Amino acid sequence: MSFKIHILSPELSNKIAAGEVVQRPAAVVKELIENSLDAKATRISVIVKDAGKALIQVVDDGEGMSEQDASLAFRRHATSKIHSASDLEEIRTLGFRGEALASIAAVAQVELKTRTDSDDLATHIRIEGSETIEKSKSALERGTNITVRNLFYNTPARRNFLKTRHTELKNITDVIVRMAIAYPEVEWFYASDDEVMLDLKSQNVERRVAEVFGKSQFGSMFKFDDANELMTVNGFLGKPDFARKSRIEQFVFLNRRFIFSRMINHAVFQAYEHMLEKGSFPFFILNLTIDPKKIDVNVHPSKMEVKFENESNVYRIILSVVRKALAANDLIPSMSFRDGNAVSPFDVKFRFSEQAWKQGAIDQTGAPVFPLRPDIRSGEQSTPPTPHIIGLDDIRPSESNLESPLPFETSSSSLNRVLAQRSALDQSQMPESKPIWQAHNKYIISQIHNGLMIIDQHAAHERILYERVMANFENTLPSSQQLLFPETVDLGASDYSLVKELLPDLVHLGFDMRLFGKNTVVIDGIPADVRIGNEKKILQEVLDEFKNNEHTGVKDVRDNLAKSFACKAAIKAGDRLNVTEMVVLIEHLFLAKMPYVCPHGRPVIVRISLEELDKRFGRT
Ligand code: ADP
Ligand code: MG
Repeated sequence: MSFKIHILSPELSNKIAAGEVVQRPAAVVKELIENSLDAKATRISVIVKDAGKALIQVVDDGEGMSEQDASLAFRRHATSKIHSASDLEEIRTLGFRGEALASIAAVAQVELKTRTDSDDLATHIRIEGSETIEKSKSALERGTNITVRNLFYNTPARRNFLKTRHTELKNITDVIVRMAIAYPEVEWFYASDDEVMLDLKSQNVERRVAEVFGKSQFGSMFKFDDANELMTVNGFLGKPDFARKSRIEQFVFLNRRFIFSRMINHAVFQAYEHMLEKGSFPFFILNLTIDPKKIDVNVHPSKMEVKFENESNVYRIILSVVRKALAANDLIPSMSFRDGNAVSPFDVKFRFSEQAWKQGAIDQTGAPVFPLRPDIRSGEQSTPPTPHIIGLDDIRPSESNLESPLPFETSSSSLNRVLAQRSALDQSQMPESKPIWQAHNKYIISQIHNGLMIIDQHAAHERILYERVMANFENTLPSSQQLLFPETVDLGASDYSLVKELLPDLVHLGFDMRLFGKNTVVIDGIPADVRIGNEKKILQEVLDEFKNNEHTGVKDVRDNLAKSFACKAAIKAGDRLNVTEMVVLIEHLFLAKMPYVCPHGRPVIVRISLEELDKRFGRT
């Protein structure tokens, strides 16, 4: 017979963060699963009834316990995982306190069946309120099977303290989901009141995450991997458009232990700065691996709080790793993170202020300076501004580009509307011009006080339109331009019923429409941003995009409609813009609440700092 468990000396057990471990069913589930994982199980099954109050059963195929260990396991401070005080300094197992089984056995009716490789028969023990009431032997596969019945049957006060069935079950599910993410190589089975909740085969981490969160959610995240002198960090980051209204989908695992760390959450949140709408939180899964000597898990009985040797160092590293990952996925408008430094890519404030503009002081604060010159201000065309950069033909404005007459043609005419609605700035007081170029009919390049700014014209216009539509939804009165001749549109049956469903919101958006029957609608007016003559096409495109977005998991109808419309009504890559159009676009972009990301979460602006340019040209 082999022995592994021993009782910790009072000196050592006194060093362990004291406190109750099993306050609710989810805590019992967590402790039992941790034991299975520490026993190197490859298959773990959890069965609960009545949200764990009637029954919690955890079965594993781990190393099991000998008869003697099985009896000792329920004693307080009985553990096989640490031996001396120095072991506390580098904990490599999930458990170490030797208290879980004792605590559980004190407040429930517990049945343990367990067998090791070297035993022929399994040990069978029944304990109620810490009293052993039966001991026997039975045949069983290697592993451990623990059944916990009638939790808190002898402590009615605690039983009454439990939350609703729904809440307790959700807590249990959360525990199991976290474990399943952290241990993808383990097979998991989880059933509640005979309903199978999870049934996961052993798989790699991508597949596990995809299976747990579902395909569409998985499509909105990307994997990343990093390593530095202190730790390795990998995991998954949600794209900004997939941000949540609460923090529940934020997972931090430290050496495969789920932990709560406000410090780490904050660092990640900080990395997403400027990319999220106010009040939303990024989705993330972070797996940190750190030398156990550099962390302390022994701070709270739940073992979910951890102290780091150097907190601010950890903060700095997480911030820069996540930023780097976002930048590598083109989600941050910055070029260089070579030093892994934690300087915000937005160390220069872009936000446009009318006041600053009028005072010509934007340059000082770092906001972009636009190429407004008297001749352009008045809407007339003139010779192009002289580019400051010599030899970069690609970004030099072409003559024809600047000569395109107003009002504009092609779909950039939608921008015409932007122009029409622009605030009446006192243009005579605008500062002297700085160059602005359109490159490849796709990007707008302009000088800012600390370098260059490149704007994706489609993404920028999309952001402007998206915010305008969302604001329109808030207004009581829809606004649209009336068509001289109402347009009849023949839609398919499914689009017709979609329009029927969306009609009030479409009207709010500016599509003044009536259902005409026989899958036909009549358009009387269109949103101000749509060019007349284009209404049929835009409506169809918006409906298609709406359906697309629905597929990819955009749940909110208005948000979806606004995104769809913004995408379809915005100027496209390939649309040629003249200087005035570019200026107006930039002006409106910086009046937006979130100028830095388009509604899909892609960057709108990329900044190249002078520093970066200097570095590249060896001017350091
Ligand atoms: P701890 O996990 O902190 O050591 P527990 O009270 O949870 O304390 O468990 C006591 C001991 O019982 C463990 O150290 C371990 O040796 C043994 N044990 C508990 N559960 C299992 C299991 N599922 N498989 C094998 N051994 C187990
Ligand atoms: Mg344990």
